[in-house]
Amino acid sequence: MPGFEVFGEEEKQQALEVFATGVLFRYEFGEQRKGVYKVREFEQAFAQYTGAAHAQAVTSGTAALKVALAALGVSIGDEVITQGFTFVATWEAILDIGAIPVFTEVDQTLNMDPADLEKKITDKTKVIIPVHMLGAPARIVEIKAIADKHGIPVIEDTAQAAGARIDGQHLGTFGDFGTFSFDSVKTMTTGEGGMVITNNKEFWRNCSEYHDHGHDHAVNPSGRGGEGRRFIGFNYRMMELQGAIGLAQLAKLDGMIASQQKNKAILKEAAAKITGVSFREILDEQGDSATFFAFMLPDKEQAAKVNQVLRNNNAGAINFGENSWHFYPSWEHLLEGKTLAQNGWPFEVHNKRRVIYDPEALPASVELMRRTLVYQVPVNLSESQRDTMLVALAQAAGL
Ligand SMILES: *Cc1c(COP(=O)(O)O)cnc(C)c1O
Repeated sequence: MPGFEVFGEEEKQQALEVFATGVLFRYEFGEQRKGVYKVREFEQAFAQYTGAAHAQAVTSGTAALKVALAALGVSIGDEVITQGFTFVATWEAILDIGAIPVFTEVDQTLNMDPADLEKKITDKTKVIIPVHMLGAPARIVEIKAIADKHGIPVIEDTAQAAGARIDGQHLGTFGDFGTFSFDSVKTMTTGEGGMVITNNKEFWRNCSEYHDHGHDHAVNPSGRGGEGRRFIGFNYRMMELQGAIGLAQLAKLDGMIASQQKNKAILKEAAAKITGVSFREILDEQGDSATFFAFMLPDKEQAAKVNQVLRNNNAGAINFGENSWHFYPSWEHLLEGKTLAQNGWPFEVHNKRRVIYDPEALPASVELMRRTLVYQVPVNLSESQRDTMLVALAQAAGL
């Protein structure tokens, strides 16, 4: 998964070009920057790479979600549907904009279950956010069709799946928006950073202005100020060093994915020998970013038994049913409505509506996640690491 594995001379060279001008800010400084616009160049390269018409760089993947939600005009009392298996950032952004996260079950793709999505749409639903968790796609074509039927926009949280595709089309370009994260553990990283992509020019303008206090960058692409302000905004600007590193990392992304696919195939072949094993449904194996490898056992007892053997052999897998950051029943601060705000915001909206989350609300996801084991797939799998994992999986197969 992590782009930090391949951090090298290319990233340093790109960053040095920024240090040479001393201009760390993405806008203005016309003379001094000598034509160096790294964030703008990164946006153009990312749009071209994914095939999107527009890209807006921001400070994080969480900010990308927030900016996309703002661009769609989402606010207090609106409902936004996402899945119960995701990173907390997805619903943090929904809450931060004032909306209410509604969670669906996940299916064999480990992503949004379209049948459950249908059941959770109400007249308050303003946006649907499927998440392409662990590098592989949600049933985005089906989800988009359901959303279209109800006239609801879709934001694809593609934080974990940069470079993944279905039939050659990049994830993040099926919905109205795709959002990406370049944090420290993502496939391509800029340390911190994010990107919003869209084919809709008006949506992009909203993102561009909102992320920079309302400044219009359509009229004056490399500058700001002077022009009229259409609405209030905030500050989610990416800085030049991040843009520079992003350019170097983006150039390595397809190579990283190719290595991960090779390494994942090695692990899958070994895991296939485990009694009763099945695999996560990958909608397009060729387009899989292969950042993670997920396999299932028939029940949680067998999964625990297999994982114990893997742990004993120094190759323990992640069970997201036990992990506290990515799965609904473990988010106690959300379930209990804990907030710093003295008036209970955002769980109590003007004392009118108290949102209650039931830890038992997603039984199908719980059943599935507890019997699912996951390995992060390294870009560089050393021989010794590979041998350790293969020995462990062989031991598990011998159970
Ligand atoms: C990492 C991540 C985010 C948030 O990205 P940051 O850049 O860390 O803010 C959002 N959604 C998912 C699914 C993620 O994994």
